[in-house]
Amino acid sequence: ATDRVFNFAAGPATLPENVLLRAQSELYNWRGSGMSVMEMSHRGKEFLSIIQKAESDLRTLLNIPSEYTVLFLQGGATTQFAAAPLNLCDPSDVVDYIVTGSWGDKAFKEAAKYCNPKSIWSGKSAKYTKIPNFDSLQQTPGAKFLHICANETIHGVEFKTYPTPAGENEVLVADMSSNFCSKPVDVTKFGMIYAGAQKNVGPSGVTIAIVRSDLIGNAQPITPVMLDYKIHADNNSLYNTPPCYGIYMCGLVFEDLVEQGGLAEVEKKNVKKGSLLYDAIDGSKGFFRCPVEKGVRSLMNVPFTLAKPVLEAEFVKEAAKEKMVQLKGHRSVGGMRASIYNAMPLAGVEKLVTFMKDFQARHD
Ligand code: PMP
Repeated sequence: ATDRVFNFAAGPATLPENVLLRAQSELYNWRGSGMSVMEMSHRGKEFLSIIQKAESDLRTLLNIPSEYTVLFLQGGATTQFAAAPLNLCDPSDVVDYIVTGSWGDKAFKEAAKYCNPKSIWSGKSAKYTKIPNFDSLQQTPGAKFLHICANETIHGVEFKTYPTPAGENEVLVADMSSNFCSKPVDVTKFGMIYAGAQKNVGPSGVTIAIVRSDLIGNAQPITPVMLDYKIHADNNSLYNTPPCYGIYMCGLVFEDLVEQGGLAEVEKKNVKKGSLLYDAIDGSKGFFRCPVEKGVRSLMNVPFTLAKPVLEAEFVKEAAKEKMVQLKGHRSVGGMRASIYNAMPLAGVEKLVTFMKDFQARHD
């Protein structure tokens, strides 16, 4: 629609237009129930059908094996920074963190309250532009889990393959907040995957955790009831009132992704968009620059700078005038950042690239 902008925000982020229109059409009276999803009992059969369908479509999309539990939680991915160690280890347990950006670092710091985390690699000295070579990692013997942030939203670094935890009973734990459902993932490689919904799959307020079921049930005694995976698993994410409307929206997004042909198709579209934008940056003869190492550049969050930083504010302002908004980089890194999640249409990236070329022609 002509009154919508291309929203390059990192999250909350753009949602598929057809999903928004569907939600609009169902807002006032959900499928003849005489009420909106916001007004329904979370224990009624209507809402049960919504949450069950959302889970089942997510299981289809990610091919989640039956030995894994899917939880719809609250508190954002930030809450999982605490919940993961509280549920998966004892206070004396060692856990390893690969710190590839500020989100991985936040997760690492939070874990120190509940167990004994070691940062076995940090990209900080290289300004978080790299992912380590896995062979060179010095994993801690006896570690309970190895934690990664699969896509660093601020720095734009993304794991393209995953490290294998060294310990026999050790599991890989991943924060996939900003690349969740952007491509197929082999869930069996992970003990746990978690993601806040507000980038790729819905509104803020919903956090999804996919946990190997045998890992559930050993939470530390101090674990608040709302952070205990067993409580949520035993109650099918309905222990207390869940974020019903947000779960409904996620469900509409999952349905849309299934209809697009699943995550392999979605990934193809994301590769196309990402290549277009990175090629424009790399082909600008240094006018635009992306600091991230080529092999690990994120297909979701593309940070870039201008060789002449004084022009950056102008770039963001002019782009906004042309209905391309939220292109300012995170305050911690500066420059620009284009978040191009699943719901960003190719037309949005094409328009941005055209604008970049035009901007360069006028300012080079
Ligand atoms: N992890 C990553 C990778 C993120 O991008 C974010 C949010 N930007 C968070 C964690 C924190 O998420 P929330 O705001 O949902 O707590």
